[in-house]
Amino acid sequence: MAIGEFELIRRFFKRPPLRFDVVEGIGDDCALLRPQAGKCLAMTMDTLVEGIHFLPGTNPENLGHKSLAVNLSDLAAMGATPTWVALALTIPQPDENWLTAFANGFKSLADFYGVELVGGDTTRGPLSITVQAMGVVDEVGSLKRSAARWGDGIYLTGDLGLAGLGLEILLGKTSKKSPEAIAKLERPQPRVNAGMSLAGFANACIDVSDGLAADLSHILNASGVGATLDWIALPLPSAVRQYIESEGDEWMPLMAGDDYELCFTVSREREDELPGLMAHFDCSCVRIGTIEQQMGLRLKKDGGIFDLAALGYQHFPTSK
Ligand code: ADP
Ligand code: MG
Repeated sequence: MAIGEFELIRRFFKRPPLRFDVVEGIGDDCALLRPQAGKCLAMTMDTLVEGIHFLPGTNPENLGHKSLAVNLSDLAAMGATPTWVALALTIPQPDENWLTAFANGFKSLADFYGVELVGGDTTRGPLSITVQAMGVVDEVGSLKRSAARWGDGIYLTGDLGLAGLGLEILLGKTSKKSPEAIAKLERPQPRVNAGMSLAGFANACIDVSDGLAADLSHILNASGVGATLDWIALPLPSAVRQYIESEGDEWMPLMAGDDYELCFTVSREREDELPGLMAHFDCSCVRIGTIEQQMGLRLKKDGGIFDLAALGYQHFPTSK
């Protein structure tokens, strides 16, 4: 499309607030709606389209898992506890084997987090999967993109770049082999427990779906701050390091999407409480940089400071 995704949303759909019970409308990982004082319903919706978000012939069980996982990841990014989900399925024809596998992948993840499928829609057409997920979070504890403050530490759960490597492999762009990279791309593990633990503790949070540079920039822009990341601190698995070395594609981990990790910021005075909280995370988590007053996103690497925008990466992908 000629105009970017975010420009399109802003021009055609974003409107001034109308209702007092919309705490957070368009522009964050979830909408926050306040049906009762102090409690928020977090709501998100994501679509996966064959040929755009996944390759034709993708394992249907993995697809069922991923279509729910990407939505649970958005709930986690708000600090919400997932509760209900709706599924709109468009399929070319009702293939029982495909449906059995897809439903298994979807249901086992839903069961794991105690999320109930409460509705949806089924239509015939080119394969496309839309999931709407809902959860609850205390209004004061919710994690917004706009709450990063100068001096905050920047943290990232899990690891970076594996899903990007998985995509390179599936597209035949590298001869590297890495089953863990394919698994990360096709079966991302939403950081639900980390997100719930961070509610009321972290300042800003986002899930990394479009690449760390692009998604952290959403936090920076919404909060009116800048940041410097430390290359040495980035949690790059050995398969990703080997890929960087052999292909020379060192920016891939910052640019590639589909990691579904949480990137969040914590006030300097609370950073020493984080290790205690991480016991509830069921994943690793490391400090990767610092929020600064100076706008923009910088990277400390090999003794220099690289301005990520000046490197030509200011045009983050605006649509997928
Ligand atoms: P995420 O990557 O976290 O899923 P998106 O980049 O998809 O978020 O969306 C950014 C924001 O725009 C979200 O608040 C989302 O709800 C909103 N949004 C996306 N498409 C539309 C639309 N067609 N109408 C209204 N809001 C939209
Ligand atoms: Mg998101």
